[in-house]
Amino acid sequence: MAKVSFRGFHKSYGKTQVVKGVDLEIKDGEFLVIVGPSGCGKSTLLRTLAGLEDATKGEIFIGDRKVNDLKPKDRDIAMVFQSYALYPHMTVRENMSFGLRIRKMDPAKIEKAVSEAAKLLDLTELLDRFPKAMSGGQRQRVAMGRAIVRKPAVFLFDEPLSNLDAKLRHQMRVELKRLHQRLGSTMLYVTHDQIEAMTLADRIALIDKGLIQQVGTPDELYSWPANKFTASFLGSPSMNFFEGELQGTVFKAEGVELLVDPTILAKQVDASRRVILGVRPHDLYPAEKTEKHGLRAVVDLTEPLGWETLVHVKLNDLPFVARFESAHATKIQPGDEILLQASPKDVRLFDVETEEALCRCP
Ligand code: ADP
Repeated sequence: MAKVSFRGFHKSYGKTQVVKGVDLEIKDGEFLVIVGPSGCGKSTLLRTLAGLEDATKGEIFIGDRKVNDLKPKDRDIAMVFQSYALYPHMTVRENMSFGLRIRKMDPAKIEKAVSEAAKLLDLTELLDRFPKAMSGGQRQRVAMGRAIVRKPAVFLFDEPLSNLDAKLRHQMRVELKRLHQRLGSTMLYVTHDQIEAMTLADRIALIDKGLIQQVGTPDELYSWPANKFTASFLGSPSMNFFEGELQGTVFKAEGVELLVDPTILAKQVDASRRVILGVRPHDLYPAEKTEKHGLRAVVDLTEPLGWETLVHVKLNDLPFVARFESAHATKIQPGDEILLQASPKDVRLFDVETEEALCRCP
């Protein structure tokens, strides 16, 4: 196990800057997920740590060792790819032991390492099978097994679940989390999927356009996003945004009047200023139409999802979404006018120009 540090890390391809100055520390034994939209530079970070790319500028450490000039094989890492990268002509046992055999490890030790990893991953029965006779999920477990037997200081995962269907992805997510709990190893995991990030990570590093937007626990990023990008990236359906005027602690826009709890205001907000208000779908609830505050909207359609129902509404033609317990949504029909309310501590404010958060955990 080891911690990992990126210090002032930049990466360019020709004149194109892909990573524009990243400082990030992954703690010893931590499961850190790097998440962001496609093309934001996530894989580049991982591939440079693995030694498959050179840093243009900055330093990379694994433990106390600077690894910039070390060959991939000397970095004490193991990488699991989306494509599994198994050898088709080798059995599971041969695939899992390959890396140890080329390092000329004692055959008895190899057998022990493979059988322990197979047991951990529920692959014991499949050790003599070839990859073509296995499902996608089983193949991905073999790819993980091949990493585990090496007992690396750091595990690197590059979108390992993207090729699996939704059900298997969920199952593998649970298995990966369990694996981390058992091994306690440092794990760095790259994905564009915010649900994987939220469910797997001890901490998340959210990246956009080659820059870190926020680093913290899933709850910190979800509840106290540092900017509008983080607020919109995490959570499904996404946070709703409205531009308007903050007057003291009252937010006003056409058809909207919501109170903001003054204890969550982090930055000095002028007596009256243009801001963006954000509110998550599950923080909206129906109110009596006679109430003064709230969001006046017209129901567009409802999406029942069993326990909960998504209520799509429009406010001056601007679509947004509320999420109700289904028991509270049974009477709601398209075309209904409703008043939605949000608790003053559940709304978030962002600067119109910089889109930086104006709220923080009190
Ligand atoms: P992500 O993993 O977040 O989807 P990548 O790190 O793979 O993104 O890529 C970041 C950006 O760098 C993308 O715009 C991609 O097109 C570009 N890029 C990646 N590899 C190369 C390369 N070898 N040559 C030129 N551009 C590259």
